[in-house]
Amino acid sequence: MGVIKKLPVYLEHFPGGGIVATSLDYVLSQSQASSIWYLLFGTACCAIELMATGASRYDFDRFGMIFRASPRQADLIIAAGTITKKMAPRLRLLYDQMAQPRYVIAMGGCTVKGGPFYYDSYAVEKGIDHIVPVDVYIPGCPPRPESLLEGCLTLQKKIKKQKIGDWS
Ligand code: SF4
Repeated sequence: MGVIKKLPVYLEHFPGGGIVATSLDYVLSQSQASSIWYLLFGTACCAIELMATGASRYDFDRFGMIFRASPRQADLIIAAGTITKKMAPRLRLLYDQMAQPRYVIAMGGCTVKGGPFYYDSYAVEKGIDHIVPVDVYIPGCPPRPESLLEGCLTLQKKIKKQKIGDWS
């Protein structure tokens, strides 16, 4: 990862290297945006909408999105449902095990800000951005599959604008 990140810096020292570095950025970001493999983190009712989006009617696969049960091969985590304080360290652990660059989508009111029903509960996390950085927020209770698809397209646009140097 360190070598890939430094590649544009090395390339720019050669004649025409700037063009190669820009093309490399373009190819990598386009490929990454078109093949997002996601880790499911569904804890409550929003997860049903997430599953419906992955099923044949909405068909995530047409975006090159395939779910992975392992964080080590996933580059996106979709958190859908209520995140309790007890669950928070598990979410952080899974996020830390993912390869970089990695992305997070927060799906539904519970994940985004504690939710419409549990807001006063001492046991519920008031938004997963207290635990992991979030790239796209999808509000709603629950958000429909179309909203999740829109969120994924927004993430794709964000990834396509990224450069290798932005990888953290
Ligand atoms: S936002 Fe609504 S639908 Fe989603 S997990 Fe919370 S209560 Fe369930």
